[in-house]
Amino acid sequence: MTNEVWREERLLIDGRLVDASGGTYDNINPATESVLGVAGDGTVDDMDAAIGAARRAFDETSWSTDVELRLACLRQLHEGLERHREELRATTVAEVGCPVGLTHMAQLDTPIDGVAWLIDLLEHYDFVEDLGDAEPFGMPSHRWVQREAAGVVGAITPWNFPVQINLAKVAPALAAGCTVVLKPAPDTPWTGSLLGRIVAEETDIPAGVLNVVTSSGHEGGALLASDPRVDLVSLTGSTATGKKVMAAAAESLKRVFLELGGKSAAVVLDDADIAGAAGATGFQVMTHAGQGCAITTRLVVPRARMDEAVEAVVGVMSSLPYGDPTKAEHIMGPLISARQRERVLGYIETGIAEGATAVLGGGVPEHLPVGYYVEPTVLVDVDPNATVAQEEIFGPVLVVLPHDGDDDAVAVANNSAYGLSGAVFAGTIEHAKAVASRIRTGTLSLNNGLWYGPDVPFGGYKQSGLGREMGRAGFEEYLETKSLAEPA
Ligand code: NAD
Repeated sequence: MTNEVWREERLLIDGRLVDASGGTYDNINPATESVLGVAGDGTVDDMDAAIGAARRAFDETSWSTDVELRLACLRQLHEGLERHREELRATTVAEVGCPVGLTHMAQLDTPIDGVAWLIDLLEHYDFVEDLGDAEPFGMPSHRWVQREAAGVVGAITPWNFPVQINLAKVAPALAAGCTVVLKPAPDTPWTGSLLGRIVAEETDIPAGVLNVVTSSGHEGGALLASDPRVDLVSLTGSTATGKKVMAAAAESLKRVFLELGGKSAAVVLDDADIAGAAGATGFQVMTHAGQGCAITTRLVVPRARMDEAVEAVVGVMSSLPYGDPTKAEHIMGPLISARQRERVLGYIETGIAEGATAVLGGGVPEHLPVGYYVEPTVLVDVDPNATVAQEEIFGPVLVVLPHDGDDDAVAVANNSAYGLSGAVFAGTIEHAKAVASRIRTGTLSLNNGLWYGPDVPFGGYKQSGLGREMGRAGFEEYLETKSLAEPA
């Protein structure tokens, strides 16, 4: 891999790479706490201009109706991403602090491949469904349903998987014929601004069709949510932000598409291989230091086998090496920021104050004095309604909870405001399926089956969100439905 970090501090507005009117702010490497360089600090005025450009491009160009143009441009975008794959890898590791091994999966390679999958979908997608003839009220009519672009999309993304989530919104929205304003998370600006640069310099995507406005704050995102020129706001972020965005969107009654937080349960049934299930869950909690919305952070095990499960999970989580994200042997690097590390440590403190015991970790690792690291942590003696059992911690912190049989296991798993993901481990796949159908969540892994991929819809039940990202469903989120008829 090239270690050259690719950087871009300009915004993309109306087809031009421009300096932000708010100047710049520092982009920090969370593994070294050093300044990587600067990012454009887009203001509300910059966002206003970007929304205006996206509106004009939607209303005044053929982008929304010209599928062949969109296909040609998406192919150029895919080629551009391929061309810069290694530079984007170095940038992702540097600004996200994610271990390089994860960039060969969901952090980078899978999402770039996902653009190719989407191009294939668009090549074959039927935008018209013929409903045939009918005689409503005695009027012989031929009816059909036409799918059309939803309009101007505001895409607001988080810092934990920025390339993946930026592409999971921008690519299907563009494929559908929408125009887009992307607002990346303040902590991970370059993965967003570099996407803008590739579009500006290496594709024929018309001016205004994609705009990228990085910023150190959230005000631009708030404008995207409230501005009546935006037809659909697509947010991936915390549930708290989701509620604000939905409230702001209500005034103009725009469509909202929300991918929010999670507190997913790995449910281990009585007949399962407990050690295997606990090991897989421990591995997952350490992946990207637990900064994944779909990670199973509650391990729910048979009460009688609690000790066995805790021993297994502690064994795995205490033996996996972690640290420097540029090293291939690490699956866990730092948290994204000092603020996020304080938040995670605060949760551990609250958990212990409410009665939990940390049987592993609980603090800052002594061997990593620089970088925003937190020790892999396992909490037991946790009340199922305690803060650490209910709220999303977003760090390498696992809570182990007991259950008293299948019904109780389902009740514990469903005792959550969230419903994003989860896992079921059982002695037979039939047993796992029977329990899985009772768990209120958008994705589930059964006996280590892996559901992730560009063709698989992903999203949440309950307060984990509205709508589905990726797959055919993720593309159709960006379409409107128009019903038409002509005399038969
Ligand atoms: P966050 O909610 O703080 O921020 C997400 C984005 O929203 C950022 O770009 C931020 O600037 C913007 N934002 C903040 N306040 C806003 C407002 N009032 N109006 C408009 N935009 C606003 O989340 P984060 O800390 O960046 O990311 C972590 C969260 O994201 C976790 O809760 C995690 O579970 C969630 N997440 C969900 C998924 C999913 O697909 N369900 C995937 C990844 C992350």
